[in-house]
Amino acid sequence: MNTGNHWNDLAAQQLVRFEALFELLGVLQADDDLQRIANEVAQRWKYFANVANWRLQLPNGIRGYLLIDGVRGTGRVTEVSQLPAWEAHHCDTKRPCRTPPDALGALPAPPEHLAGKGINEIAVIPFSRGDQCRAILSVAARHVPLTELDNRFIRTFGSYLADRISDIVLRREATATLLDKATRDALTRLPNRATVLERLSSQLALARRSGDALAVIIADIDHFKHINDTYGHQAGDHALQAVAQRLQGSTREGDSVGRYGGEEFLFVLFPCTRAQAALAAERMRLAVAEQPVCVTDTAAPVPVTISLGIASTSGHEDERLELLLGRADAALYRAKAEGRNRASAAD
Ligand code: GH3
Ligand code: MG
Ligand code: MG
Repeated sequence: MNTGNHWNDLAAQQLVRFEALFELLGVLQADDDLQRIANEVAQRWKYFANVANWRLQLPNGIRGYLLIDGVRGTGRVTEVSQLPAWEAHHCDTKRPCRTPPDALGALPAPPEHLAGKGINEIAVIPFSRGDQCRAILSVAARHVPLTELDNRFIRTFGSYLADRISDIVLRREATATLLDKATRDALTRLPNRATVLERLSSQLALARRSGDALAVIIADIDHFKHINDTYGHQAGDHALQAVAQRLQGSTREGDSVGRYGGEEFLFVLFPCTRAQAALAAERMRLAVAEQPVCVTDTAAPVPVTISLGIASTSGHEDERLELLLGRADAALYRAKAEGRNRASAAD
């Protein structure tokens, strides 16, 4: 046997594997879409290690866990609320292990795609930080056991993949939190003033183009100051939350409601005629007035009502946002003057 040639062949094989690995690392660095990453890994892993199918499990913030699977060259990303039994077991032991599918014995059943026909062994590598298990990688080797070189490639790449995906998940969570803080009102969880005004602006533009009618309704809680003064500010907050929930519940799909000011709410209804807006306002008035609101644990439920001002555009006319809101505000003022717990429409 020519030893020189043998070593040359081995070195060439290793070089090919390294090239495939580096190419995949480059792809992962340039993309942050989990599904695309899963697909790339599923297609390319076999070029640098004997990996047929695989699963990487990681924490997914408050939503639970992410399962990223490679099944016959296709990536699959699944969100689950609970850790599957296979992963839970390996998370507990925190020990790498290699097992042929027919020697699983008392272990929980592995994911189906790791134990199918032609699978020689399943290798599990837990990645820990301190005594916390941050990810579990399970890979299935096809036909022959994993070599030492396979193992090293799997460990190195698996650790990188787990880090990369954790980074993406964390960044996604942080972005969602920031977006939520910027667009929602913290007390009622409704869209905030800026968000509902933005919505109105875009719907108005759409109404001008389509010629469909659009309506806005401003709702204001009646004598709200009295609730604060009688039961305290915290009870007032509870009343606001309850009213917001009822209003949200009576808003149709496609329409939107936001917290416009202290105890004022703004609805954007599109498409919506004058007559439909009057019906919607009555529906909202009833949703609030029908049942008294619990504002403290001890006091009897308190009757709460709202007054509403409606303004609408009939279609193509070039109504400015400020003027439309001004007309709804004037109508609301009239509903208050006429006795409250009622709706009034602008002329
Ligand atoms: P009207 O029927 O004329 O609308 O009377 P009102 O008492 O509802 O109106 P007014 O404008 O006098 O009072 C509104 C009150 O809403 C005053 C303000 O302290 C209270 N308010 C505004 N935002 C909040 C909030 O976030 N929490 C609580 N608890 N109160 C709020
Ligand atoms: Mg007010
Ligand atoms: Mg009020």
